[in-house]
Amino acid sequence: MKDFSQLDLIDPIQKAITAKNYVQPTPIQARAIPPLLEGRDMLGCAQTGTGKTAAFALPVLQRLANEGKPKGRRKVRVLVLSPTRELASQIGVSFAEYGKHLPFRQQTVFGGVSEKPQIRAFNKGVDILVACPGRLLDLHGRGLVDLSHVDYFILDEADRMLDMGFVPDVRRILKALKKDRQNLLFSATMPKSVVKLAKSFLTDPVRVDIAPEKPAVEAIDQNVMFVDKSKKSALLCDLLVDRNVDSTIVFTRTKRRANHLTKKLDKAGFKAAAIHGNKSQNARRRALKSFQNGKVKILVATDVASRGIDVDTVTHVFNYDLPHEPESYVHRIGRTGRAGRTGSAIAFCDDSEGKKLRAIEKTIGEEIDVDKDHRFHRDNIMSAIRNGGGGSGNGRKKNRKSSNRRRSRGKNKKYRRTRN
Ligand code: AMP
Repeated sequence: MKDFSQLDLIDPIQKAITAKNYVQPTPIQARAIPPLLEGRDMLGCAQTGTGKTAAFALPVLQRLANEGKPKGRRKVRVLVLSPTRELASQIGVSFAEYGKHLPFRQQTVFGGVSEKPQIRAFNKGVDILVACPGRLLDLHGRGLVDLSHVDYFILDEADRMLDMGFVPDVRRILKALKKDRQNLLFSATMPKSVVKLAKSFLTDPVRVDIAPEKPAVEAIDQNVMFVDKSKKSALLCDLLVDRNVDSTIVFTRTKRRANHLTKKLDKAGFKAAAIHGNKSQNARRRALKSFQNGKVKILVATDVASRGIDVDTVTHVFNYDLPHEPESYVHRIGRTGRAGRTGSAIAFCDDSEGKKLRAIEKTIGEEIDVDKDHRFHRDNIMSAIRNGGGGSGNGRKKNRKSSNRRRSRGKNKKYRRTRN
C-alpha cells in the first residue's frame, strides 16, 4: 500500500496523520484498518513498535466520528485496556494526537496517582477511556464510571495481561460491557491461553499476524559479552565511554539490581534513572520524561518497563542480566533500532546464564556474535557455555550436540563478525 489516502480515512484524521509525518501505513495498519472500518472484530498478533496503536485508534476514531455526537452527557464509548501504566499513557497520547481535530474527550486511568482528576473527568463526560484494569475496576465498583455504553473494546497486550495476572479483572470488566460491540484483541505472542481468552469475547474475528517469524531485528547489531557477574558494572561503565552510547536502556532482572546499578552508575559519574514496578507513578513518569527529552541518557529498567517505552532515539540496549523469558530479550532489544535507525544490543552473560542464552538463541534462530573486545572477556565462561554448560538443569550431551549444529549453521556470519 502506497499511502494513507487509499484507506478512506476522513479529513480530520488524515490531517492528524500528516501532522505526525506518517507517509505510508505500516503493514499492520494496511491490513487492520479496512476490516476495522467495516466493524469487524479482530485478533491481532503484533508487537509494540509495529504501528499497532494507530492500526486500532484510527478506525475506531473514524467510526466514532461517523456516529456523530450522542445526545446528552458524554458516555464512555471506547474502552482500551492496557496492562501497564506506561503503555496506557502512550495509547492515551496517541488517541489525543490522532483525534486532535475531532470533538472527543478522552481520559487515561491507572493506579498509583490521585483518582480525583480521573473522577472529575468522568463527571464532565468521557468518550474514550484508556485504562489499566485495577484502577478501572475500583472506580467502576464504586459506581464512578459507567461502562454500559461501550461500543468499541480493545484489549492490548493480552499476553502481558496474562503474565501479570489481570485476566480475572479483564473478565469482570467484560461483564460490565453491553453485548453488542466491536472487539479487538492484540497480543505480541499467541499462546493457547490468549486464544482461549480471545474466543470468549471475539465474534468471527479477522486474524492479522504481524509478529514476524524472526523478530524484526535486522536493524539491530547484536552481541554477547562473556563476563563474571561481579564485573558487569565495571564493564558497563567502560562501554558507556568506549562505544558512543548516546541514549541507552539497561535491563536488569530485578528491581533491586536496577536500583543498585543506578547508584553505582551515579557514583561513577553517569547520570542514570531507574524505572520499575516499585517506583511511584510520579517517579516513573519523571524518569521516562527525562529520558525522552534527553536529560538522562541512561535508563535502568526491569521488564515491566520494556514494552511501553516509546523512544525512537535509543542507540544501545544492554541486557545487563539475561531475561528469564527468551521472548523478553526480543522485546528488550526492540527498544533500539526504531524508526529506520540502527541500534546496538549488547548482552552480558555470566557463568550462570548459559541456559538463558541458549533459550534466547533458539528463539531468535541464530547464535549471537561474541564480542571479546573488552578487558573483562572470560574465555572459560564462553567455552563452557558454547559447549553446552552454564546454568542449572542442562542435558549436557544434548546441548553440546545442538550447540554444534547451531554453530555450523551460523558459522560464516559468526566468524566474520566476532571481534578479537
Ligand atoms: P506503536 O507500535 O503503536 O507503539 O508505534 C510505534 C511507533 O511508530 C510510534 O512512534 C508511532 O508514532 C510510529 N508510527 C506509527 N504508524 C506510523 C506510520 N504509518 N509511519 C511512521 N511512523 C509510524
